[in-house]
Amino acid sequence: MLGQLRRIVQDVAQEPVLQNALAGLVTSVKQALTTECCSVYLADYEQQHFMLMATDGLNPDAIGNIAIGFSEGLIGWVGQREEPINLAKAHLHPRFKVTPEVSEDRFSAFLGCPIIHHRKVLGVLTIQQAAERVFNEDEESFLVTLGAQLASVLANAEMRQAASESSPSQTQSGQLKGLPGAPGIAIGEAFVLEPANDFNAISLKRADDPEKELAHFYRAVKITKAEFNRLAERMSGHLPADALAIFDVYHQLLDAASLGNEIELQIAEGWCAKSALKRVVEKFARQFDDMDDAYLRERGTDIRDLGQRVLNNLLDTEQRKIKLPEKVVLVADNVTATMLAEVPREQLVAIVSLKGSVNSHAAIMARALGIPAVMGVSELPLLHWQGQRLIVDGYQGHILLSPVEAICAEYQRLISEDVALNARYLAEIAQPSQSLCGKQFNLMVNSGLAIELETTNPVYTDGVGLYRTEFPFIMRSRFPTEQEQVELYRKVLENYPTKPVVMRTLDVGGDKALPYFSIDEENPFLGWRGIRLTLDHPEIFLVQIRAMLKANLALDNLHILLPMISDLAEVDESVRLIRQASFEVSDELAIELLKPKIGVMIEVPSIMYQLPELARKVDFCSIGTNDLTQYLLAVDRNNPRVASLYDAMHPAVLRALHQFSLQAQGLQFPTSVCGELAGEPAGILLLAAMGYNSFSMNSSNLAKIKWLLRRVELSELALLLPQVLACQSAKQVRLQVQRFLEQKQLLSQLRA
Ligand code: PEP
Ligand code: MG
Repeated sequence: MLGQLRRIVQDVAQEPVLQNALAGLVTSVKQALTTECCSVYLADYEQQHFMLMATDGLNPDAIGNIAIGFSEGLIGWVGQREEPINLAKAHLHPRFKVTPEVSEDRFSAFLGCPIIHHRKVLGVLTIQQAAERVFNEDEESFLVTLGAQLASVLANAEMRQAASESSPSQTQSGQLKGLPGAPGIAIGEAFVLEPANDFNAISLKRADDPEKELAHFYRAVKITKAEFNRLAERMSGHLPADALAIFDVYHQLLDAASLGNEIELQIAEGWCAKSALKRVVEKFARQFDDMDDAYLRERGTDIRDLGQRVLNNLLDTEQRKIKLPEKVVLVADNVTATMLAEVPREQLVAIVSLKGSVNSHAAIMARALGIPAVMGVSELPLLHWQGQRLIVDGYQGHILLSPVEAICAEYQRLISEDVALNARYLAEIAQPSQSLCGKQFNLMVNSGLAIELETTNPVYTDGVGLYRTEFPFIMRSRFPTEQEQVELYRKVLENYPTKPVVMRTLDVGGDKALPYFSIDEENPFLGWRGIRLTLDHPEIFLVQIRAMLKANLALDNLHILLPMISDLAEVDESVRLIRQASFEVSDELAIELLKPKIGVMIEVPSIMYQLPELARKVDFCSIGTNDLTQYLLAVDRNNPRVASLYDAMHPAVLRALHQFSLQAQGLQFPTSVCGELAGEPAGILLLAAMGYNSFSMNSSNLAKIKWLLRRVELSELALLLPQVLACQSAKQVRLQVQRFLEQKQLLSQLRA
């Protein structure tokens, strides 16, 4: 059963033409359940009806012609109830609607199951039979499971279809909904960067010129074979002869008589080289997967590995061929720091990440660069984006595909408005960071994620409140040496000679992976991350601290910040190692070192409840609202499926922050906020109302935040706070703040 289900879903996913996919689906389901009829209806929300899209058993002429209203018949009823309906005598049911065109008179039994994606009914899958019987539990659970698995595949297929049909000449632009990742609007051309290692991310595509595709394929095969020769040579002497034989097998598989031949046939049928490769590799690998013999099953992995290597070489030559457009919208399955580095900053206008959510590090990087980003748009597979003209609306989280000129002109107007608003904020950048009533704020920048140094002139900031050190580690193919780190940190510290620079120790794990140090975990955000990893590898930690201390010589503006602390013992151990590093450097250079201030990130809830003890151990703390929100609400900050639940404006998060502020003030413990909340207009107002006065944010937000703080009085904020803390939802909180800004006539000047 499970194998059949998997195969049906895979077949649907593989077929690029939706109509063909559905036609194959109904026949496969009919056979798998040995029933007499299977049909699929898809919802059309504009017309408010379900359209019969495929059937094996009803009148084929009715396909594409029979629409059943959302509140009509049994199909409409399945959609309304959002659950399966299983009837022995469907024709006698009061909701049964006679539709002569479908010729279903001979069927009595009916089982209809909704196909639901993200709470939205996409369609209805039915099976029917002449015998008057209720379908049994196995049949019902098969259909329910299939419906659930098909939902995302169908959502993808519909999107793909819409995208391939959209063209610049159309009057209607295609719109995709994602999540707002970084504010702003940009118009540009999609440039897709594919992760070279993900075979699954390749979407099927046809090509016009089989000759060209064939040549492309042969070239990749040639390079792959040469790679195998090199590998075999390097391994001979290290591996036994039978293990080395695998390279011969690979060679043979690539030859014309086996896989190669099949791939050539697929190319001749009109598939592009990558698609042909994927189709053949998947087909053969699946045949091996299903074998009983464990040895033969393993051969499926070999075939995938082989396919992967050829694919990498196909992509390599392809990506080298593509010229960067003038205005690049970087599109990737999961945008990484290294990908950002591949596009010159002046050409990069926006980011679209198919995976990830509002506080994924890709989104934070986009905000650091001051460019819009839309996240979590997985409905449209990667290859459908290449070369499309796009409008990226990072405020709404929308993308317009191949927009018409009139729409571009409208968005261009919004872009100009943004430029004017920014100019207004920047006009006050040199003014003091103080409220109307004279309260002073400390406004610092978050640094380290952007490729170049921050856009705000250091003169206009109060220092660096968070320097993320991950970037130089991620950009290399090995851990950076102590000297490399010294040089880098020195530049940062020198850039702010008289101001504090808070350098965070390495915080990899979660969604920040090092290419050369893979961490494979079921639950990475709850796993080996931040200080947990570096305390387990003191050799990495000590080198980093030593580098920071050396960089700090004669500058003395270094502060050290420890990420992901969840336990006081981690603080003790870190402080001990910092002391050890300090002795070592002092000894090595024969000088007395000044002790840098040490702080802790408050981002794991447990440590919020140990503040008095913490305050005795370290000099300051910095609240990371990004992680704190994810851990307080138990919502993965990187998962678009639960993105609507991730909100730092959740009343529980705000109450926790408020209580923490009161406690920290009572202890006179220096505290700042460096999470993304501090760079949001609504966030900064509430944090200021709670008594926080030191903030660190992306430099692209600093001018706006300063501009806003200069227009409010603490007494007004003090009135707003209790109203907000009494709210029951994040939505209500946002409305309250919006109303406040409206009353002060500030809302229209802030596009959040
Ligand atoms: C945070 O968690 O709020 C934070 C500032 O750190 P990062 O986003 O790098 O995890
Ligand atoms: Mg964090």
